[in-house]
Amino acid sequence: MRLSHITIQGFKSFAKKTTLDVTHQLTGVVGPNGSGKSNIAEAIRFVLGEQSMKSMRGKIGADIIFKGSEHLASMSRASVTMVIDNRDKTAHSGDMSHASDTLAPFLVYDELVLARVIYSDGTSDYMLNDAKIRLKDVQELLSFAGIGASAHTIINQGEADRILLASPKDRKEALEDALGLRIYHMRLNESKRKLDRVKAHVHEVELLRKEIKPHLDHLKRQVDKIESQEEERKKLHMLLIAYLTREEEELMKLNERIREQGTSSSLLLITDSIKKELHMLRNATHDSVSVSIHEKQTLQAEMRSLLERRDQVSKTLGRMEAEKAYLEKELGREQEGTSITIEQDEWQETHVVLGHGFENLTSALRSGEHEKAQVHARDLHTTTETFFTKHGGKETTRKEAIQRDLDVLSASILEHEGKERDLSHEMVVLQERIDAVDTTAQATLQSKHEEEKKMMTLESKLRELDSTIALRRQEEGEYALRKSHFDALVQEGVTIVGREVLEYKSHEADERFKDTQSSDLMRAIERSKLRIEEAGVPNREEVMAEYRSTRERDEYLTKELADIKESEGKLLELIDELETTLSERFSTGVKEVSKVFSEFFGEVFIGGKGKLVLMDIAKIDDEGNQLIEQGIDIDVSLPNKKVKEISMFSGGERALVSIALLFAMSSITPPPFMVLDETDAPLDESNARKYGVMLRRLAEKSKLLVITHNRETMNHCDMLYGVTIGVDGSSKLLSINFKEAESYAQ
Ligand code: ATP
Repeated sequence: MRLSHITIQGFKSFAKKTTLDVTHQLTGVVGPNGSGKSNIAEAIRFVLGEQSMKSMRGKIGADIIFKGSEHLASMSRASVTMVIDNRDKTAHSGDMSHASDTLAPFLVYDELVLARVIYSDGTSDYMLNDAKIRLKDVQELLSFAGIGASAHTIINQGEADRILLASPKDRKEALEDALGLRIYHMRLNESKRKLDRVKAHVHEVELLRKEIKPHLDHLKRQVDKIESQEEERKKLHMLLIAYLTREEEELMKLNERIREQGTSSSLLLITDSIKKELHMLRNATHDSVSVSIHEKQTLQAEMRSLLERRDQVSKTLGRMEAEKAYLEKELGREQEGTSITIEQDEWQETHVVLGHGFENLTSALRSGEHEKAQVHARDLHTTTETFFTKHGGKETTRKEAIQRDLDVLSASILEHEGKERDLSHEMVVLQERIDAVDTTAQATLQSKHEEEKKMMTLESKLRELDSTIALRRQEEGEYALRKSHFDALVQEGVTIVGREVLEYKSHEADERFKDTQSSDLMRAIERSKLRIEEAGVPNREEVMAEYRSTRERDEYLTKELADIKESEGKLLELIDELETTLSERFSTGVKEVSKVFSEFFGEVFIGGKGKLVLMDIAKIDDEGNQLIEQGIDIDVSLPNKKVKEISMFSGGERALVSIALLFAMSSITPPPFMVLDETDAPLDESNARKYGVMLRRLAEKSKLLVITHNRETMNHCDMLYGVTIGVDGSSKLLSINFKEAESYAQ
């Protein structure tokens, strides 16, 4: 970067556009008092961003705008443009690779046109290649160009003096400027400002975190509770799966067993039917046995009656037999007195008739036909009477009477014998019936035994059934209780854990619980339920949502804090680096400047000595802390003079010392461009020559614009501009190329 030319328009006395070429090493500006020479220095100061109106000898902005003359109207704006040749794209000082985002895009141009415009209201605009930029950007650009609006870039008579009279601290700052350390200061200050902002931000964020911490802690505790409840819920879910699966299986088995072995109600049905059967058996046995007994008794009574009757008949028969024997005996005795002759045939015939008669009689008696028997008995009597009448005569004799009685008796005997046979027969028949009844009764008794056996079996079965029913009822009761407990547990699980509990069948029971007893599982479930209840937090979803948003905010703040602290750390590092660099470069620079100052001093004041001394200055800051600041002191002694106080030096001496110092300062980091506004004014001819020598040396490294009335100084210039007030009342610039003029003259 090299300074090319400066254009002034409307600035103070320069109403019209005036261009000043600053490409020569030593350019002189000469002209009468009041022609506007110093206005050129101020125009340069202006474009470099000078903020003090006072340093431009004005009070308000309008003071530096052309106010008009007899021939020219006043102007509303003043502008100064500085053109920088940037073809080499290299900064005079500083590293352009760290250029700000605003400036960086401009640094690619070959020509950089920096302009400042001021309006009558005092406002200013800064432009770079016609684009508005900020003062900050101007300062950055100038730092790259190695130009600063500092005391040593534009030095007027008063300012040269000022460096001598300045405080050690101000002097130090001026020296830092001269050493090109301003950029570090700018960066340092900016970094410190940033650090302050960052610290404030850190404080702010920490405060915010502190503010939300109790709430977050409270929410965290709630969430921990919810989470532990959630954990417990999962645990409960696992326990329920293990328990319910097993319990359901057991219940199914129990139910199956109950069904297989018969439910109490089905067993009751069996009991009922057994009872009915028993009842029927009891009744049936009783009836049949009593019927047999009764029948047998009746038959036996009948038998007894028959026996009596037969005995009676037998007795009668016996008596009749005895009577018959008697009668026959009687008849025999009678017959011994009489004889009866009876033809053989007739006797046989009568005997057959009588035989038939008896047979009929017997048959009728046997069949109980008593009338018929009487008829047959009469017939028999008639036959007998007829026979005896024929063979005995008509007179009734004792023999005949006996015979008749005998006949009747025989007939009666026959009759009774028939009766006796009939009764015997009846008795045989009756005995058969009795035997039959006996057989039946025997069979009945047998079946009664069997039935009784059956009844006993049934009764024992009934008793067995009763105890089975009691047992079954107990089992059913147990099943019902367990089932209702099971259902209630499922319902409770749904309420506490959720509907997924209903899916317990589709889950595998946890291996952990494989060997755990159901009762232990149940106890664990109860404990788990209790823990869930204890860990209950109302409005779970709201708490969770609030916790999430608060935590996100805290995380955001934490991250922000970390980021800020990181940048704080970086800034502190940068500040440290900058301070170290600054300190190192400064102390080296001070030594170098001091050395050059000594040389210059020795040259200007033969036999005199001058050096710069780095000193510590104690300072109390705003917070009452003691600080040590560095400052620069000037230690000089003039030849043959005891006075060391600079304030006691003569004006010329002071001017030379200050020039020597300024030149020494500028020689270490030579600025590309310097303006010296009548710094040689107080010098006599001899000192002006010494000034000229120093000027030349300085011009080897920096381009100088020297405003002077001094011919010695003018002699050293490569180019001279003459400034006059034109007829229109504004300043005019005339260029005289000294070298060319000289060469023409030769
Ligand atoms: P010297 O040699 O005496 O130092 P100089 O050449 O340096 O003089 P300047 O100080 O640059 O002169 O110029 C001062 C002149 O500029 C004064 O005559 C003053 O009237 C004129 N001037 C200052 N401000 C304005 C302005 N705003 N408008 C018009 N002219 C102005």
